[in-house]
Amino acid sequence: MHILLVEDHADLAANLGEFLEERGETVDYAADGLTGLHLASSHRYDVVVLDIGLPALDGVSLCRRLRTEGTQPVPIIMLTARDTENDKLKGFASGADDYLTKPFSLPELHARLQALARRATGYAHTLQVADLVFDTRTLVIRRGSRRLSLRPVEVRLLEILMRASPALVHRQEVVRQLWGDTPPGSDAALRGHIHALRSAIDNDGETALLHTMHGVGYRMGHDDA
Ligand code: CA
Repeated sequence: MHILLVEDHADLAANLGEFLEERGETVDYAADGLTGLHLASSHRYDVVVLDIGLPALDGVSLCRRLRTEGTQPVPIIMLTARDTENDKLKGFASGADDYLTKPFSLPELHARLQALARRATGYAHTLQVADLVFDTRTLVIRRGSRRLSLRPVEVRLLEILMRASPALVHRQEVVRQLWGDTPPGSDAALRGHIHALRSAIDNDGETALLHTMHGVGYRMGHDDA
């Protein structure tokens, strides 16, 4: 995920950023509200972590401006030291999607960020992993300028993996989503579809996007993590 962290408390920002980066996330920082607004308006983030008490422009005002000034919709989670019903309501009224009161656990923040980003991707009509783009309305799938032709089951498989990207999807979960409670008798069917999908997506000389973790599952991403 590409995360924007707007937090004026330097130690907390460093702590949070380090935790998220260790988990493979990419983090941009802003130490005041105006910088945060500028970054959020000029970059595409998967999620914004927004402190409420900020210099230059407070978090509630920043959130409201992000929601009203026509930038692309991005999930926002607000952080605050204050735990009053009123602050929470103000946060939600300004358009925040979630709310976390300090002190909070870093793994909980990470889990909530993942859930927010996943929900946002769930709404998206266009899925993208590196230069692989899937328009789920037209079912047109391209890698760069190359248009891919896939069988329906492989299109569904691709959608499952792209929506989860960059997370791993366990093999049982893929089987469940593809076939429900009537899975094929052996692993060969899924292996065959993965093979077909990989041949279509990853040509020689291109960065591999579909990764197999043997015995565990599959993931899509432009790195080998
Ligand atoms: Ca603050």
